[in-house]
Amino acid sequence: MIQANDLSKSFDQHEVLKNISLKIPAHQVVAVIGPSGSGKSTFLRCLNGLEMITGGTISVNDHLLQATDNKKLRQKTIHAIRQDTGMVFQQFNLYPHKTVIENVMEALIVVKKQSKEQARVIASQLIMRVGLQEKEEVYPSKLSGGQQQRVAIARALAMEPKIMLFDEPTSALDPELVGEVLKVMKELADEGMTMVIVTHEMKFAQDVADRILFMADGQIVEDSEPRKFFEQPSTERAQRFLAKVN
Ligand code: ATP
Ligand code: MG
Repeated sequence: MIQANDLSKSFDQHEVLKNISLKIPAHQVVAVIGPSGSGKSTFLRCLNGLEMITGGTISVNDHLLQATDNKKLRQKTIHAIRQDTGMVFQQFNLYPHKTVIENVMEALIVVKKQSKEQARVIASQLIMRVGLQEKEEVYPSKLSGGQQQRVAIARALAMEPKIMLFDEPTSALDPELVGEVLKVMKELADEGMTMVIVTHEMKFAQDVADRILFMADGQIVEDSEPRKFFEQPSTERAQRFLAKVN
């Protein structure tokens, strides 16, 4: 479960997230949408400590992060949160000099301290899960963007996260490659993974998410069921946004 209470985040004097409070229960799939610069990525990054909050609290699976924590405590909590949380970015950031299977094995060996043999078996299963069993021994540069992103998802899953965070995972892809990545994400959602997905894929958000968070100017302006949000957004801000993207 994720819980934010009065969370805020400033970069110098610029307040980018303003007093956000919300609860995301386990197994919920949440799509975060909103205009550019509204704070979506910053919000996601605060959830796993890539950015430190400047006000309020966040708790991720009962690991409590407070803006007032000292550095040592904060690092300890962030470490614990990251054990439970996988993140996938727009840019896949695979290791270019490692093969697909080595990319997925890396965290198993380094973080989970598994033997190479164990790691290989698990990595192989994860690669199968994202449909890339034929590509295990290939280097990332030989893969399409969609395939690379599926490797990035397999790599994140290797940590057995309880929560997956996605920041526009399909935005860097050619349109014909978007579907294969969304399919893998939908399967994860169907398996009950807790997911927070920043996306511009409105149809995917509508079909797969249980809940839409619409952000504007650092605030959650609407928090509603997808159907209600897309058919009858209650704020003028969301109506304008939807008119533009549709
Ligand atoms: P997009 O849809 O374009 O990805 P976003 O909703 O993800 O936008 P953020 O990247 O969270 O928006 O940025 C929100 C605001 O915070 C922007 O005004 C941005 O300039 C600012 N910002 C983000 N990261 C930093 C940083 N490291 N230092 C200073 N300002 C930042
Ligand atoms: Mg962003």
